[in-house]
Amino acid sequence: MSHSGRKAPHNDLPSEHDVDVYDVLVIGAGAAGLAAAQALLERGSDLEVKVLEARERLGGRMHTDRRFAGFPVELGAEFIHGERAATWHLVERLGLETVHWEKLDDSWVRLADGRRLTMRQARAEDPALEVTRSWRLPPLPARRHESFDAYLRRLGFDDVRLDYVRRAYANAAGESLRLLDATAALEGLAALGLDGTEDHRILEGYGAVVEALALGPEFYTGTVVTRIEWGPGGVVVHDNEGHVYRSRMAIVTLPVGVLQAGSVEFDPPLPESKERALAGLGMGPVVKLVYRFAEPVTPEEITAVYAAGNPPMWWSPSAGHPTTEAVVWTAFVTGDGAVELMRLGEDDALERGLEALRRELGRPGLRAQDAFVVDWYSDPFARGGYSHVRPGHHGARELLAAPTPPLFWAGEATAPEARAATVHGALLSGERAAAEVLAAKEAVAGVAAGVAHPV
Ligand SMILES: Cc1cc2nc3c(=O)[nH]c(=O)nc-3n(C[C@H](O)[C@H](O)[C@H](O)COP(=O)(O)OP(=O)(O)OC[C@H]3O[C@@H](n4cnc5c(N)ncnc54)[C@H](O)[C@@H]3O)c2cc1C
Repeated sequence: MSHSGRKAPHNDLPSEHDVDVYDVLVIGAGAAGLAAAQALLERGSDLEVKVLEARERLGGRMHTDRRFAGFPVELGAEFIHGERAATWHLVERLGLETVHWEKLDDSWVRLADGRRLTMRQARAEDPALEVTRSWRLPPLPARRHESFDAYLRRLGFDDVRLDYVRRAYANAAGESLRLLDATAALEGLAALGLDGTEDHRILEGYGAVVEALALGPEFYTGTVVTRIEWGPGGVVVHDNEGHVYRSRMAIVTLPVGVLQAGSVEFDPPLPESKERALAGLGMGPVVKLVYRFAEPVTPEEITAVYAAGNPPMWWSPSAGHPTTEAVVWTAFVTGDGAVELMRLGEDDALERGLEALRRELGRPGLRAQDAFVVDWYSDPFARGGYSHVRPGHHGARELLAAPTPPLFWAGEATAPEARAATVHGALLSGERAAAEVLAAKEAVAGVAAGVAHPV
């Protein structure tokens, strides 16, 4: 832990003499927290800002491993979704190299009739698959409490089409179809392509983005926030070691799962609107099974596989890296599929995954050199992969994002539906919250200076 804060007994009311005092505390050093801290420093450089982070590392759900394979392997966020995503500003400024996942030609799809085709061939030959990729749907409004599963059935989707949706759309959404709100899903689909439709991988890994975002702001890592007192006088934050931090304002970027778990106590309790927001959002089970092989397991151009079984999605972080040292394939599985696998325990889940890959590739003798599981659901500082809107709760993201001064809210879950659950959504949410903090500060300064404000 890097910590220079002074100890203060938990139950003492802190005064300015026995605690660290800041202008702004940022809670959480993931994409949102890092972007918020950067924006505050850039645009309000006289501010005292401190970021409090529970883990010993920065980046949150951006976490690049560099030991397993000799090249970066992503344990969390993997792709830049969209060629115009906000992340590109950083990638370009840092001169990072990227590799394009050309889905149409680089992916195999297992069709319902058992054939395995490239995505381009599969979409041309199977109208059922094509519908679930282009998402040109009849204009049928969703009902208020409808799940996306119920909506698609009402639209006439048969089991084959629903299975394609489960394997691609729902698996990527991080939760099973019956637990996703139909209105929110349609809103996301209507905005499909807002930031572009192509996926790119950062060859240096998302870790390079984290390192760049970490330059400038000050952090206390290994600092598990347990209690946030807030009111007109400002914010007092307590951590699990009894340290106390006081600030005028705070930006909370805690994942929805952490907020729902109640492991951070708010005093006074959060207003009803925030409780409603948290009741309306879910954090799905998201798991990666990561395998290392001694040699390529597919032709060179095939870097992803939409499989028929569980796990339904495979891709290779080796893409763009020389394959001399090792070849890595990652299974990405969420929702019911993730729960089913994790019930087996890690070793059996890895064996089950490998068995599924052997079947998918028609290589019964396939052996992995090494493998491991990344289970974001059991991670106490994430408690799930990323957020989704629960049936009947459209609007929950906006409720969570709304400022409750002196607390301001960021994180992927507070991003608009089209950008939620992504790195770029989290980055933008952090910048938005920083702008809200600066506006609030200016409003206070204006009042203090006797400047009249239009009402
Ligand atoms: C497996 C996986 C794959 C993904 N793939 C992609 C992808 O390909 N592309 C993409 O754009 N997005 C992807 N995402 C989503 C993306 O990673 C997230 O949307 C984004 O990183 C979230 O950033 P955040 O700052 O909102 O949250 P986080 O990164 O979770 O940051 C919150 C921080 O708060 C800290 N914290 C938690 N509790 C406490 C506490 N009590 N006290 C102090 N600190 C605390 C956490 O440790 C964390 O660092 C993926 C996510 C996962 C899990």
